Amino acid sequence: MNPENRRKLHHRIRQAAETALSEKKYVSAIDVLVGIGWLAPGNVDAWRQKRIDYLERVINANLSRISEAMHLFRSWATAKKLAPSETAYVARQPGRPALRFSKSGDPGIERQYRTHWISPELKEKERQRLDEKMSRPPELVAIVPLKPDWKCHRCGRGGDLLMMEPPGPCCLDCAGFADLAYLPRGDTKLTKRVAKLSERRLVVARWSRARKRYERQGLLIEPRALREAREELGVSIAEDDFARIDRDPAWRR
Ligand SMILES: [Zn+2]
Repeated sequence: MNPENRRKLHHRIRQAAETALSEKKYVSAIDVLVGIGWLAPGNVDAWRQKRIDYLERVINANLSRISEAMHLFRSWATAKKLAPSETAYVARQPGRPALRFSKSGDPGIERQYRTHWISPELKEKERQRLDEKMSRPPELVAIVPLKPDWKCHRCGRGGDLLMMEPPGPCCLDCAGFADLAYLPRGDTKLTKRVAKLSERRLVVARWSRARKRYERQGLLIEPRALREAREELGVSIAEDDFARIDRDPAWRR
């Protein structure tokens, strides 16, 4: 890379990194790559669902440019005296498999991608909270299919919702979640309580063409948890409110 291009890239990386740092008090390689426009947020979502085998596949730059950018980012973070913190990236899938960043799969490169750089301004308590948040496995996601004629890779049938597995889309029956009930978003208090009470739960997400990202529609939760949460919060229980996933799915309306 010629010195002028290198200087420009350095400037863009610094800006992207400063923005993420001031918003979140930490910054990741993904923040920077999205910030400089090399990585689309929708592709990050797809990668987290393992629909893309490794992240570098969807980064809009060749490997030597990516490596240069990662180097510049690391130098910037070190100069700012940010603290490196390795973060587990696992897929939003049953079994929560580890996500792969690089084409090569080299452990050193993978570690660089996984490392979050944390602001020294962050107080010990906040930092603990952040560590907890970062190490919490991401939620499992059920997706509203874009094509109604999709086929489950295990049983060959379709359905209203699918989950992504490495070989392809899987129906909720085969994934073992067909018994869950649907709770549409809206009632924050109820949603929070139900999410706590339900050992098994999925986030229902739908792709928004306009915003080019997945949007949360609601939760699939254990019917027992919904009943208990409603009792606790004194919400009257009408069995009709249980929008079962095989009946009148709310995300279709
Ligand atoms: Zn199936």
